[in-house]
Amino acid sequence: MGSGSCVPSFERFPSSYFFCPLQLKESWLVDIGEGALFRLSEARESYKDIDRIFISHTHPDHIGALIPLILALKYTPGFERSKPLFIYGPESVREYLDMHLDFAPYLKCDFPINFVSCSSDNDIEIEKCLIKTKKMNHFETTLGYRWFFGGKVIVYGADGEVSEELINLSEDADLLILESSYPKDKPSSGHLTTFEAGKIAREAGAKKLLLSHFYPEVVGMKEEQIETEVRNSGYQEEIVLAKDLMTLKI
Ligand SMILES: [Zn+2]
Ligand SMILES: [Zn+2]
Repeated sequence: MGSGSCVPSFERFPSSYFFCPLQLKESWLVDIGEGALFRLSEARESYKDIDRIFISHTHPDHIGALIPLILALKYTPGFERSKPLFIYGPESVREYLDMHLDFAPYLKCDFPINFVSCSSDNDIEIEKCLIKTKKMNHFETTLGYRWFFGGKVIVYGADGEVSEELINLSEDADLLILESSYPKDKPSSGHLTTFEAGKIAREAGAKKLLLSHFYPEVVGMKEEQIETEVRNSGYQEEIVLAKDLMTLKI
């Protein structure tokens, strides 16, 4: 839904990914940055059907559309939701949610909002899906997620610098979703460069690397240039550069 950063862009909205785990017949969002509901609508998917949201941290480019989603679920004329909405995230996400519900009591919904508080190294089970979390090297508690279902592993590294935890979380992933915020020669604390994303994918043995969370300098590079920087890390498997509304089948 969003392959961009906090820098406003019509082409690249802030972080959000729509997962459609066919075995579970559910709709998930992984992070819900500003604009996610608009992209969902463009993709002809319904915000009404979202079952679970996995949130990495409370930076607005990852959580900005959460309150608008709750507002829409409550006030869409002719629609009454009864199924629960599950939200997974660090304790700070609960605080974020509670703060908004206290400030705006009109947001309180009749359907259950079940918050599942996660910290590092949690194991969560949803029917046939196993989920692991790890703390990323970013802001307060930022969580990366690893989902295992249908014999496939998908990993989302959220935001964060190179760390043993991130390499460990990413091990043998069939799809590894990593930020690559900056070019190789312009690293910035709290984030990965193109080269570093390749290095993590190589060390973890990931089979496919989806690069995302691009800041303007990376957006301004030619695709071949980005790939060259990633390849310089020694990563030899498939690289995909995310675009908004792109779909991948795993
Ligand atoms: Zn962040
Ligand atoms: Zn971010």
